[in-house]
Amino acid sequence: MNEMESVREKILLKVGIYLRLSNEDKDKLNKDDDSESIKNQRNMLLDYIEKNPQFVLVDEYCDEDLSGAGTYRPEFERLIRDCEDRKIDVVLCKSQSRFSRDMEVVEKYINNKFKEWNIRFIGLSDNADTENNGNKKSRQINGLVNEWYLEDVSENIRSAFNSKMKQGEFISPFASYGYEVSKIDNNKLVVDPVASEVVKEIYDLYLKGFGFTRIAQYLNDKSIACPSLYKYQKGIKLNVISCRPREEIKWNTNAIKTILTNELYLGHLIQGKRTTVSYKNHKVINKPKDKWIRRENTHEAIIDEETFAKVQVALKERTKPMKANGIVHNFSGKVFCKECTHYMRKKNSAKHEYLVCSNNRDGYKDCVNKESIRYDALEKLLLEHINEKIKKFYDLSILEAESIKKDKNKYTKKINLLMKQKNDIINQMSKTKNYLKNLYEDKVNELITAEQFKELISDYNAEEEKLKDRLKSIDNEINYYTLKESSNKNTKELFNKYQRLEKLNRVIIDEFVDRIYIGKINEETNTRDVEIKWNFD
Ligand SMILES: [Zn+2]
Repeated sequence: MNEMESVREKILLKVGIYLRLSNEDKDKLNKDDDSESIKNQRNMLLDYIEKNPQFVLVDEYCDEDLSGAGTYRPEFERLIRDCEDRKIDVVLCKSQSRFSRDMEVVEKYINNKFKEWNIRFIGLSDNADTENNGNKKSRQINGLVNEWYLEDVSENIRSAFNSKMKQGEFISPFASYGYEVSKIDNNKLVVDPVASEVVKEIYDLYLKGFGFTRIAQYLNDKSIACPSLYKYQKGIKLNVISCRPREEIKWNTNAIKTILTNELYLGHLIQGKRTTVSYKNHKVINKPKDKWIRRENTHEAIIDEETFAKVQVALKERTKPMKANGIVHNFSGKVFCKECTHYMRKKNSAKHEYLVCSNNRDGYKDCVNKESIRYDALEKLLLEHINEKIKKFYDLSILEAESIKKDKNKYTKKINLLMKQKNDIINQMSKTKNYLKNLYEDKVNELITAEQFKELISDYNAEEEKLKDRLKSIDNEINYYTLKESSNKNTKELFNKYQRLEKLNRVIIDEFVDRIYIGKINEETNTRDVEIKWNFD
């Protein structure tokens, strides 16, 4: 690089251009006005760069189809990261509202962080330029107007969606598994010929007695793509999928349960179950059932009414309350006979509760598994197994690391404080030594008498002894805390406190256990098989 070039290098400013096409622009695009299109935004910015020779384009950041509020904007995130890493000097946008319509985001970045990072922001059409200080007020007013605009647009979109849902139009961009959005009318659902067969099979398997876990396993064994992976394979790019290894994306019990209870497969649309807090706060909240928008026969059914009804009955049946008072006992619908696969019925005596194979009524000894099992014994056994599972699955490393860090910080602080005290004392000692040197010179030059010198020296010696003692005790303290710092005794206690379950309840059993099979008693060993099928591997 010659000298001239290196000078040029210094004055050139690296520019990143940010382009955004928002939902609200798309409506405008339908008309003749396409001034907001990505292409036009880009042309306008490139034109500007060409007219300003000190600017050199280094990167383009482009978010499409995304709202200007705080929603996920991947390219925006990348732009901010590059700003922070000083990969660019100037952020160039068509307007401040292209950057963000959210006042908070404008404040945070344009008026604060960019200043800190020495990044210049230029919005062409509204003459925003952070290099121009007098510009700040008008930039803030612009931000406020943009925010009001966003609020209006958001209200309009909400009410438009509501009226569409009331007319039975499908408004989500993605269809649920088994359907696809019609290519002719994007508010209509049509049957996906491949996925709909899997849906039918799931209903079929459930009625054959397969549990959620077994169905999921069956589909995974057959290498059938689960709904999210299937969506991805069909070209719908989902962020949750694209960053995970393919083999990890599998069918699980939740997916099966969702499919078995979704009235969509009957041809009915139920929408508006959830909403967000506001156009800025995207926290999802569930709406009460009476606020849902339900329209029947809006599309072709995949499952007939009879099959669907049977499955709903079976779903209830398998977790059937055993008593008239409606209380579901802990093991209800979970325990089956290993010999004949009938469920194990609960039976009470005066003293204890038991489970016994239901295929074993008085008089008809149909099943070889005749002996009952004590309810509390089974609870105890299961609790032990669950605790074992928890121990295995609990992320020990995270917990341990965190707690060690906390204690370490506490001790590190103490040690640092002591080190500082130690340094202060050493400094003082060396100062005193200097003083002693001066004192000696004064004596040599006969500025002080021998008596005076002796007296001052003994003062000094006493002082030095004190300081030496103090140093010793500080060293002891430092040793003590250093030892503490490296010990992780507290961590172990903490971990034990959190990782053990003391008592079972229905929710815990439901979460962990798919089914339990109880075998007959082996006469020779006087033991019996208890096989637990977990909801996970
Ligand atoms: Zn049995």
